[in-house]
Amino acid sequence: MSWLKPRPTNILELLHRVSKPRAVRSGQSKSGAGFTIQAGSPSNLRVNKWSLRPNRGSALPASPTNSLLELTVLGSGTSMGVPTLTCHCRVCSSKDPRDNRMRPSVLLVHNGQTAVIDTTPDFRQQALRVGLERLDAILFTHAHADHILGFDDIRPFNLRQRSALPVYASLETIATLKHMFAYVFDSAPAVSTIPQVTLHPVDGPFEVIGTRIVPIPARHGDIGVLGFRFGSAAYLTDFSVLPETSKPLLAGLDDLVLDALRDVPHPMHQTVEQALEVVRELQPRRAWFTHIAHELPHSETNERLIAAGFPHVSLAYDGLRFEVHV
Ligand SMILES: [Zn+2]
Ligand SMILES: [Zn+2]
Ligand SMILES: [Zn+2]
Repeated sequence: MSWLKPRPTNILELLHRVSKPRAVRSGQSKSGAGFTIQAGSPSNLRVNKWSLRPNRGSALPASPTNSLLELTVLGSGTSMGVPTLTCHCRVCSSKDPRDNRMRPSVLLVHNGQTAVIDTTPDFRQQALRVGLERLDAILFTHAHADHILGFDDIRPFNLRQRSALPVYASLETIATLKHMFAYVFDSAPAVSTIPQVTLHPVDGPFEVIGTRIVPIPARHGDIGVLGFRFGSAAYLTDFSVLPETSKPLLAGLDDLVLDALRDVPHPMHQTVEQALEVVRELQPRRAWFTHIAHELPHSETNERLIAAGFPHVSLAYDGLRFEVHV
């Protein structure tokens, strides 16, 4: 595979000791191993034990390809990132790399094609640390700054691939992108390189990287946000209310990555307790919290979740990687 190249010094390598990136191809399913965390991972990573649990089989209808998609968490932090500038709290100064959180985004890889959900202000660093060498699509959840400000950094992929990148987003998000990045979309001749994209308003399921994507509408304070489901997993960041009409779209999940900012209520985000309520209701096999603020220490919060009766729920962390049946 050429889209990833080994970078022995990056944080993902330290966490997973991935000597060589895995290719994800149809038919490569390892029965019983839903995760791709490699042997040699630190044994204190709680996610490891789940990799030993047998797959019970998804309640989802059989997919047309029954292949595997690989999801990598590029960033698990809230809008200011962790450590937060000027803060010296115990999480911001923690030595645990899982307490170091870039802005929220995930990478999807399927059959050698790649898509990112959101282009954060950390997008360039996130792409560097996974050695991303190819990008085939961008999906946007919404147009808040922490989800779009890396948009200009897609240019090297335009140049290398000699093509525009398809962007999938709601009309609301597209309108804000056009405003925030007016130089990309106006008709003025550019004297320097600018992102090249094709815009695809999302109004229902669509297909990218050979994968059917189902948008999951939710409310994020006073704006709309899109979650995305792909096969047995869904990514749902930045939401305060999950409408009843969206819940059936999230039935039978193996993995749900969802917003859980902190314990103190926030008008635009889920608290840990609210996120657990969503988990109770939707009953995914595993759930991963993301968009995490510096109030939640990684290890301690995971211990808390176990003690509260949620051993299948954990904080996501930058570099978390698992396979998804699509
Ligand atoms: Zn956000
Ligand atoms: Zn802090
Ligand atoms: Zn937001």
